Amino acid sequence: MNNFEYKEDYDFFLNKLAKNNIPIFKKEYYKMFDFRDSKIKREEFDKIRNDIFKKLVYKYGEKCQLNIHKDCSKEKIFDVDHYIPLSTNELNKIIRGMKPKNGKKVPAQSFGSNDISNLRIACKRCNAFKKHKII
Ligand SMILES: [Zn+2]
Repeated sequence: MNNFEYKEDYDFFLNKLAKNNIPIFKKEYYKMFDFRDSKIKREEFDKIRNDIFKKLVYKYGEKCQLNIHKDCSKEKIFDVDHYIPLSTNELNKIIRGMKPKNGKKVPAQSFGSNDISNLRIACKRCNAFKKHKII
């Protein structure tokens, strides 16, 4: 539970991983999270992106690990996706029912890490389709 703002969020992701058949031990689960400002994480990610991409391709081959769009891998352009998004407002919407106020979007929370355990190879279509969603 350390650093999760809400216990529900911890449970939400844990259930999500279980549903997607990602066996997870507590120690590894925490590696997928980094609650710092998402701008910092994005900057750090930009620096390691190419290296990480090579590592993932070496490990899993150059194929989409998301496979959520009907045209998955139609175009052979691949990128690195954060399985747990760097930031998202989905939980504020889904769990806490927050609504946009005064033309402002529901605030986002910082979640995902740049650890390789949280990174996946994604084709262009699936990556665009997923955006900040949690699948
Ligand atoms: Zn795909």
